[in-house]
Amino acid sequence: MIVMKFGGTSVQDASAISQLVEIVKARPGSRLVVVSALSKVTDGLLKVAQLCEQGDLPGAEKQVDELRLRHLHVGRELGLSAMQIEPIEKWFQQLRHLAASLAALGEVSPRSKDLLASFGELSSSCLVHGAFIQRGVNAAWADSRKLVATDSEFMSAQVDWEKTAANVQAQLLPLLQEQVVVAQGFIAADPKGHTTTLGRGGSDFSGAIYGATLKAEKVEIWTDVNGILSTDPRVVPNAKTIRQVHFLEAAEMAYFGAKVLHPATIYPALKQKIPVWVLNSKNPADSGTEITFDQNSPAGVRGIAFKNNITVVNIHSSRMLGAHGFLKSVFDVFARHKLSVDLISTSEVNVSLTLDPNSDMDALQRAKAELNAFADVEITSGRAMISVIGRGIRDTAGLAAKIFTEIKNINVQMISMGASELNISFVVTSDQSVETVQRLHQALIP
Ligand code: ADP
Ligand code: ASP
Ligand code: MG
Repeated sequence: MIVMKFGGTSVQDASAISQLVEIVKARPGSRLVVVSALSKVTDGLLKVAQLCEQGDLPGAEKQVDELRLRHLHVGRELGLSAMQIEPIEKWFQQLRHLAASLAALGEVSPRSKDLLASFGELSSSCLVHGAFIQRGVNAAWADSRKLVATDSEFMSAQVDWEKTAANVQAQLLPLLQEQVVVAQGFIAADPKGHTTTLGRGGSDFSGAIYGATLKAEKVEIWTDVNGILSTDPRVVPNAKTIRQVHFLEAAEMAYFGAKVLHPATIYPALKQKIPVWVLNSKNPADSGTEITFDQNSPAGVRGIAFKNNITVVNIHSSRMLGAHGFLKSVFDVFARHKLSVDLISTSEVNVSLTLDPNSDMDALQRAKAELNAFADVEITSGRAMISVIGRGIRDTAGLAAKIFTEIKNINVQMISMGASELNISFVVTSDQSVETVQRLHQALIP
């Protein structure tokens, strides 16, 4: 049995969905197909949330209708019957009602946002299911909210593995013996049955959750590039496919910003030792990237990842000179405000740290107010974190010298090296990130 996850561009229109059907048909055995929303639809649904918050009902209705028409158009182009279109009309009717109530209130809670966002995957999965039937494939549709169980941390819910495994084994496994099953990525439900989501880009994670709980032979992540590339192809157009990448390297690439994989994707598969492949639905003949457990996979620089628009926080407290517990006090504050820290560099009374672009800036202001009780705090935005990634690079003689010589005229603000054997990371201003990545790619990737 295999899990095949298709991202937004792999279901963006009728021709992409037809291609998806062909790709799935070409795979023998039991197949679970996990789909994202059509490309840009989740953004569109979050726009609906924003319009509802502003109390702009006509705006929200217009946006909902545009999304509906796009889905109906794709359905028509796929040749779906009126009966097959019906569930899609039903989702959009629910969405319209929801938007009307939210716009009347002028308030959208995280719980409502998740419900709004779920209509993207609910609708795309119906289109894909219809396309399978239309093309003679015996297929069933499954609701991921009945399968993937999470807590109630809306917009970034945590998986209840035991419950999910029980649901999957009881409900999904029997279906998969007989049919191709189409389910949604990204969405799940909490113990009360309320819709939750796994965070933006979370459909990859859904694929891995299903892979692990089904003990699949492999998980295939189908996207719009030939696998995991040595860096973002939008910055370096000739970035190369990494044909084999170690699990730890893939996780590090994802965590440090390579958008091709959601950072949580790797661990469930790793726990069960399930191979993961990243493949191109626009070019299925390409062999893509294999993520392996092979301890003998070669050491050295594998890729360069980066995150733009990160925030750097400098914390200084001369009062803590000679006193112990400074770092603990600082990190307690960040933990209390649920701010997750990427890079850290410290000296006795100074701490510099970086926060992800998605960090809650209001929470940061609250954290700053608390830190001000014992330290001066300086917040700098508009920075980028660049990470050179590969196994064993900590122990590669001369690599740091090579990196920093290559970018010697670029002002490097913070360096973190040696904490993990897998990466050397540092901070530059956002406007220099492209040049930094391009130069390093040229110098380090053969
Ligand atoms: P999907 O909708 O299939 O999940 P995403 O847009 O989330 O696709 O991820 C694929 C995109 O990630 C690629 O089109 C590419 O522009 C971008 N990307 C960034 N870094 C990398 C990388 N190192 N390797 C491959 N793609 C990358
Ligand atoms: N549709 C969701 C998003 O755009 C999940 C995904 O595509 O992975 O974030
Ligand atoms: Mg993605």
